[in-house]
Amino acid sequence: MALENEMTEYLKKPIGEASDKELYEAMTDLVRNRAEAIPKISGKKKLYYISAEFLIGKQLGKNLINLGIYDEMDRLLKANGRNIDDIEKQEQEPSLGNGGLGRLAACFLDSIATLNMEGDGVGLNYHFGLFKQQFRDHKQYEIPDEWLSAKNMLKDTGVQFPVRLGNKTYMSRMYDMDVIGYKGGKNTLHLFDLDTIDESIVHDGIAFDKTDIEKNLTLFLYPDDSDKDGQLLRIYQQYFMVANAAQLILKEEKEKGHSIRHLDQYVCIQINDTHPSLIIPELIRLLIEDGVPMKRAADIVINVCGYTNHTILAEALEKWPLDYLMKVVPHLVPIISGLDYAGYCAFNANPDLAIIDDENRVHMARMDMHFSHSINGVAALHTEILKHQELKPFYNVYASKFNNKTNGITFRRFLMHSNHELSEYIDQLIGEGWKSDATHLEELLRYYNDENVLDHLVQIKYNNKVRCAKLIKEREGIDVDPNSIFDVQIKRMHEYKRQQMNALWVIYKYLQIKRGQKPQTPVTVIFGGKAAPAYIMAKNIIHLILCLQELVNNDPDVAPWMKVVMITNYNVHKAEILVPACDISEQISLASKEASGTGNMKFMLNGAITLGTADGANVEIRNLVGNDNIYIFGKTSDEVIGLYNSRGYHAVDYYNRSHSIHEIIDFITGPELSAIGDVNMLGALRDNLINKDWFMTLLDIESYCAVKETAMYDYENRAWWKRKSLVNTAKAGFFSSDRTINDYNWDIWHLK
Ligand SMILES: *Cc1c(COP(=O)(O)O)cnc(C)c1O
Repeated sequence: MALENEMTEYLKKPIGEASDKELYEAMTDLVRNRAEAIPKISGKKKLYYISAEFLIGKQLGKNLINLGIYDEMDRLLKANGRNIDDIEKQEQEPSLGNGGLGRLAACFLDSIATLNMEGDGVGLNYHFGLFKQQFRDHKQYEIPDEWLSAKNMLKDTGVQFPVRLGNKTYMSRMYDMDVIGYKGGKNTLHLFDLDTIDESIVHDGIAFDKTDIEKNLTLFLYPDDSDKDGQLLRIYQQYFMVANAAQLILKEEKEKGHSIRHLDQYVCIQINDTHPSLIIPELIRLLIEDGVPMKRAADIVINVCGYTNHTILAEALEKWPLDYLMKVVPHLVPIISGLDYAGYCAFNANPDLAIIDDENRVHMARMDMHFSHSINGVAALHTEILKHQELKPFYNVYASKFNNKTNGITFRRFLMHSNHELSEYIDQLIGEGWKSDATHLEELLRYYNDENVLDHLVQIKYNNKVRCAKLIKEREGIDVDPNSIFDVQIKRMHEYKRQQMNALWVIYKYLQIKRGQKPQTPVTVIFGGKAAPAYIMAKNIIHLILCLQELVNNDPDVAPWMKVVMITNYNVHKAEILVPACDISEQISLASKEASGTGNMKFMLNGAITLGTADGANVEIRNLVGNDNIYIFGKTSDEVIGLYNSRGYHAVDYYNRSHSIHEIIDFITGPELSAIGDVNMLGALRDNLINKDWFMTLLDIESYCAVKETAMYDYENRAWWKRKSLVNTAKAGFFSSDRTINDYNWDIWHLK
């Protein structure tokens, strides 16, 4: 009753008479006001999680869950003939992230608040986010994502800080969003912006004048940096983020009566990838301004900061030319040079450890590693590769700084919200203990031989496939059969993730079906993901997939047995629909290249079986579920690293050696696809696969096809498959981000 009264107060009319939009706005007001009344979490020490991305997803449903009123609201709306899903659709998903790294930051905020730790996020308020993806002529186009146009959870705090960019000072503005813990207190996500941003300078998709900082600074996440102006803009953004973070931290510390000189007693900072690295020289600069000697200032900052590495791809480790920094942050350059010199003296001028290399480029990750007390990778295998390969020189001198923190996901969003039916059924089976300690999910193993329970789980999976099929019909106009096998690969488009290998499998299967070899159960192959606007090869892969979608779905010999779907504009909301519907989770990165993956964890939790390489957290999934409940194929990371070191991989040999590979690759530029697509794009893709294939698609393609065949064969053994599915959900507790955050706190932050 109380909830109904509160709702009608905001609506000023009965629930049954309001539009979905009015209901959405009223519910958002309700959440905002309920959140207002929740006390801020406070502790002896506070964490600031600084990140260029926070891929937080839609907020309404998650907040209702964390406030503990989702079910009550659901019932209230139903009683008035309304549907909560329709209302949640009214929300625009905040476009503040790109992929796994940004989603991780969002899961962490949820867990930090739920575990009652005092910890805020700090980032930027991108007006148009990454971009919105559209497909035309089987190609990706980018347009601005106008997520701020609808009502949202942001609050203008009125707080402003002066930030020096180049030779001018700009006033920032801080927008806050409450981060409500599950049945707990709240923290804050702080997003900084400039009042002078001019959205009208964007034209022709996402093009804009990259030099006009005052108007463009926070328009987009990761603006194109293929030229100098783009790189300068990225550095401007990064410094703007950390200069605001530093001032916010010092303001809050001052209000608590703490001195900047004791910062390390009261504050810790997690540097999420290299984008926030300039926080290090910025804090040292502020300490020196306060009269602290350089050496002491550096020691304080080391105690405060921890650095998380997210990738071993060399191109992702940022290196900025010193003269670019001279232009953007001239006041930091003496500090950075001083830090470089300190390292030079301490380590006998070892060039592998130098912050500034002999081409005068500043290696951000190296600065992070020298001036943090903790360096962590994001899965066990990844951390080992960092220690013994990529960051070996640093491991040799700082072994005790290195530690692993295997990523996690918040089960509040990726089970309770996205798969409500399964979540409620689990409650019935084992109680709600898993919500505070996810390892309790193992109690599900009691039902390993209970056919009624197993069949109910199959029914829930089917219902989720129906919901997903509806989304695909609505958004993509494609009919898919919920009785088919849902084979899903959704993630950023990248050669190392090898969507191209999955696409080659589609060709392989297409040719088989054409020859009369039909699968027992039809298969629906679902892709989704954005390509970076300047990443030509990733766009070519999207082109191939869209051409295959057209070819396969319209071929009457094949379409009854296989469908191909490329989901437009993959985002968190779509993940929440696709993940619970999945049977086979595609995690097929080239071993050693995927740092962890978190998509793999979402799928496992929702009862999909992983088909993947021994890469990232797949290795830990295998250790948990055992070889019977996962499909692992392909070369190991050691073998792959060996091939890179010996330069021993030549794609053309694989192409020449195998008739079957030859046939599949040639199909890319054959008459069927050429009639649909752009021969230049398809030709470039084929050419690359034969002559370069830097991410070794052909190395694993045969074992991939073989093991996928096995998985589809096993799917027919329903009694077996449903047990595999149960085991995956039961063993997923380790991947709760609550576990990850407790590990960070225990080893790095020591908040309480
Ligand atoms: C989880 C998630 C990712 C990360 O997926 P990976 O498979 O780990 O790369 C990327 N984007 C969205 C929208 C996600 O929800």
